[in-house]
Amino acid sequence: MRIFLLLAYQCIACCSFAQHRSVAIKCGSLLNTRTGEVLHNQVIILDDHFIQSVQPLASFSRRTDTVIDLSAYFVMPGLIDCHTHVLLQGDITSDDYAMQLLKESIPYRTLRASRSCNIALQNGFTTIRDLETEGAMYADVDLKKAINNGIIPGPRMFVSTRAINTVGHYPLSPREFNWELDLPKGIQEVNGADEARKAVREQVAGGADWIKVYADRGYYRLPDGTYHSSPNFTAAEIEAVADETTKSRRRLAAHAVTPDGIIYSINAGARSIEHGFGMNAECIRLMVQRNVFWCPTIYVCAYVAAGRAKEGSPINSYFMESFPEVFRKALEGGVKIAYGTDIGGYSWNEPEAKDFGYMVKWGMNNLQAIQTATITAAQLLEQEDHIGEIKPGAFADIIAVKGNPLENIQLLEQVQWVMKNGLVYRSPW
Ligand SMILES: [Zn+2]
Repeated sequence: MRIFLLLAYQCIACCSFAQHRSVAIKCGSLLNTRTGEVLHNQVIILDDHFIQSVQPLASFSRRTDTVIDLSAYFVMPGLIDCHTHVLLQGDITSDDYAMQLLKESIPYRTLRASRSCNIALQNGFTTIRDLETEGAMYADVDLKKAINNGIIPGPRMFVSTRAINTVGHYPLSPREFNWELDLPKGIQEVNGADEARKAVREQVAGGADWIKVYADRGYYRLPDGTYHSSPNFTAAEIEAVADETTKSRRRLAAHAVTPDGIIYSINAGARSIEHGFGMNAECIRLMVQRNVFWCPTIYVCAYVAAGRAKEGSPINSYFMESFPEVFRKALEGGVKIAYGTDIGGYSWNEPEAKDFGYMVKWGMNNLQAIQTATITAAQLLEQEDHIGEIKPGAFADIIAVKGNPLENIQLLEQVQWVMKNGLVYRSPW
């Protein structure tokens, strides 16, 4: 594996100067992620970084430079994770989070993040939307640049830089530390519509593909089972963020957990709701009506629940009790569910494909679960022509697993072979 990966590195390093090359990939089984159809004995022909055609093996006559034999594998497009934090290394407790911001410099965190990027790719996630650097400023823009320039291996990245919240509503908080200290912040703090607008302009100038806001905080459950929170922005502030985001031809992702945060984020114009654990029927109705996507980030909620309860905050345990019902209602209601894990919020050593298992347990069939990380994720990112499907003209982002994930979704936790942009990054050989 080491020798192979070294070759992959060399391959990336020289790819900008490489000559045009053609590759054929023999597929034992090949999934059409749009229709769910599985074709057998097919050949994918690549033209450099792109898929040129798909044809039956019987009609294939070798006229390509290289043939990759995946006859014994199930082949599908590379997966897409719409909610990652490559610059975080797990934060069950508030101390886990604080220690990363207080004890690790941004260069050190960026080095660790380069490992996260490689892990995402090795996990078969060939595209990620990284939803903010948690105090590491614009380091995500540099990681994306380093990947695109072949300096480090990693997925295609859509980045959101610093994220936006209002003053006093995001760690690190002077409440927990000596108030005399000038503490690092996990976000860019704003007050008022003008500052909100300025922050969007600064982040776009710094390289943000997406703008992220933290719309609510302070979650609690009433005896009737409904969830509530405090919105972080005034209507004028979040509307200024959304308006400037649209003017900058970017899209808005809103961390919003309960209806208090979800509904005003949708009304302001958010394209995706992140987490949404406490959503109700009104949220579901509005999301469908306004074509708003949901990244449910399921496993992270389970992952942090016990540790946070021990710290005195049992809310994630409550969310896990009601989550199956919330998920089922959103699915039945027709909400567009895009795969988003929040990995980085949990350890990068955990499988990034864990959410698929929950989705299937809670009502999706295996194809629907796969579509969240292919077809629907590509729609959220407005990249339908390029990723999420194996079709002519799309990027050659392709993975292979042993066995059929339409029968066993957990096979996606053991991706065997990964190609991104026509280059192989993982192989069983
Ligand atoms: Zn997150």
